[in-house]
Amino acid sequence: MQLPRFEYVRAASLDEGLAALAKHGADAKIMSGGSDLLVNMKMRLDTPRVLISLGGIAELQDIEELPDGVLRIGAGCRLTDVIAHPGVSARFPALRDAVAAVGSRHVRNIGTLGGNLCLETRCWYTNQSEDWRKARDGCFKTDREACHVIKTASRCHAINSSDTAPALIALDASVVLAGPAGRRTVKVLDFYRDDGVQHTILAPDELLVAILVPDDGRRAVFAKLAQRVGLDYAAGSFAASLRGPADAPEAVRLVLNAVGAAPKALTESERLLMASGLTDEAIEAAALGARQSLGEVTNLFTPSGFKRRLVKALIRDALVTLRDQTA
Ligand SMILES: Cc1cc2nc3c(=O)[nH]c(=O)nc-3n(C[C@H](O)[C@H](O)[C@H](O)COP(=O)(O)OP(=O)(O)OC[C@H]3O[C@@H](n4cnc5c(N)ncnc54)[C@H](O)[C@@H]3O)c2cc1C
Repeated sequence: MQLPRFEYVRAASLDEGLAALAKHGADAKIMSGGSDLLVNMKMRLDTPRVLISLGGIAELQDIEELPDGVLRIGAGCRLTDVIAHPGVSARFPALRDAVAAVGSRHVRNIGTLGGNLCLETRCWYTNQSEDWRKARDGCFKTDREACHVIKTASRCHAINSSDTAPALIALDASVVLAGPAGRRTVKVLDFYRDDGVQHTILAPDELLVAILVPDDGRRAVFAKLAQRVGLDYAAGSFAASLRGPADAPEAVRLVLNAVGAAPKALTESERLLMASGLTDEAIEAAALGARQSLGEVTNLFTPSGFKRRLVKALIRDALVTLRDQTA
């Protein structure tokens, strides 16, 4: 498959990148590693007239430990470099595990953390070649107000498959966004919208600059199930964090991804664990509760019945691991 024609702009600074974005508007697309974007362009799912590369912007490539203990990771840092950073491995092993779960080594050598957080949602009906798609009508993702996954849907149900998003949400991380009006910082959880087409709150003239991971004493775990390790996107992924003793937690955060258009915080199950601690019974109830509070589960990529069973098993096993680590 050939790439469509496009104009290439390599921004040397953040200001240059923002100016190019303001100039070209909806005709332009930001490119970091290009490992997702270029595939989508070959499939004609994205046909930007201008590609704005952020690869030359030094500010986006740094990993820094700030005086208040926050780890600041530039959005343009390659996944391989995030894994290799001693501060990430030593302080945030769950984040390292999530980054290491993204694709293969080749993908991680090209892909960036910012690109992974902004990863386009995926759907079995659209992430196909243009000829394949022509065999049926369009949908919200292409050219029609319709969803092939849930026929009665009023929005797109494509799936968010970012592996790092649940881990970063569990760690209470934030993202720094830059636009013409300046910068804003938002929690990673609030960065996402439950809509497969407009799946983040990024304005068309904004870009992601950095990820801020606070160190507030949480311990965390990340778990993912994919059909082929190193090749496939998650059938389900889960991250959990805990502050304080496992039998009387001060804070619990549970996040599920790859089951809907946005990562999902499992607030009911969190409340349950806060009230009872991570006992065997509470873990079982939290896993079962999560399964029930999933809401609409689609048949995308795996049957919905399998997904519900998978969710329960992922959560139960990860919570036992988290409790054992704490002990
Ligand atoms: C074979 C294969 C396997 C894969 N497996 C996985 C997997 O298991 N898990 C997983 O999570 N991903 C997977 N991916 C997807 C992808 O490679 C990774 O998510 C990667 O981290 C994307 O980063 P990138 O820098 O290449 O993003 P790009 O392709 O450059 O961009 C992705 C999207 O984010 C936007 N974007 C990028 N940077 C910014 C920014 N700074 N500000 C605003 N918008 C931005 C782009 O416009 C584009 O829409 C896989 C890809 C391939 C080809």
